[in-house]
Amino acid sequence: MELIFKIFIFIFGAAIGSFLNVLIYRIPRGISIVRPNSFCPRCHRPIRWYENIPILSYIILRGRCVGCKERISIHYPIIELITGLLIYYAYVNYQLNIPFFFYSFFFCALIVISGIDFTHQLIPDLISIPGIALGIILQILTKNLLIGVIGLGFGGGLILLIRVIGGRVYKKEVMGLGDVYLTAMIGAFIGFPLVITAIFIAALIGAIFGILYITATHQSRDVPIPFAPFLSVGAILALLFKTQISALLYNTNIL
Ligand SMILES: [Zn+2]
Repeated sequence: MELIFKIFIFIFGAAIGSFLNVLIYRIPRGISIVRPNSFCPRCHRPIRWYENIPILSYIILRGRCVGCKERISIHYPIIELITGLLIYYAYVNYQLNIPFFFYSFFFCALIVISGIDFTHQLIPDLISIPGIALGIILQILTKNLLIGVIGLGFGGGLILLIRVIGGRVYKKEVMGLGDVYLTAMIGAFIGFPLVITAIFIAALIGAIFGILYITATHQSRDVPIPFAPFLSVGAILALLFKTQISALLYNTNIL
């Protein structure tokens, strides 16, 4: 019975992921998120419910629109899969208790923010700022307020510091205000000192990706690389592997 419920939670999460795809597409374009129903961006053919089954439809339709055969981006099923897995993770750890709902929101917020930053180089504050408040409410409910507040202040503060110093040194925006709010939200949710681990992982994979990207595409070093996806991956990895990370730091006497 428990297994059936876990499978149901994953499918439910993947369906939420399908809605997150809609948000990622519509929020930066200023299209209503309730109407109209989903349509193919090229031929505007409405997508029927049976063509909109998370992950499966993409495989059955072989990644093409039924109407015009336009390729459907692989990011749709990937986001559905990731959302399904993360909501499943939240369920396994918290069952249907209060933190489950907060962490599910947190994961969804990271996915939408990363998707929009990746495609439009912008971070919607209308998600991250309420997210900071929700993170703090979670910490109050789980009696971890101090850890959350320090996480918020440290995360947001560090990125703000990089923004101010980087702006002076390079005479351009190295870090947007959106990154500051996003890191504050991450800090509020995962707390201190886990937020340091998240920023460290983000900086590391961001640097590796940046070097690979510039080398592969021969772009100039001035091309803006969205940082929100790296921060989100950093936050999720830090949270998922927090026991392993602290064991590693403890055993190697770094801390
Ligand atoms: Zn089409």
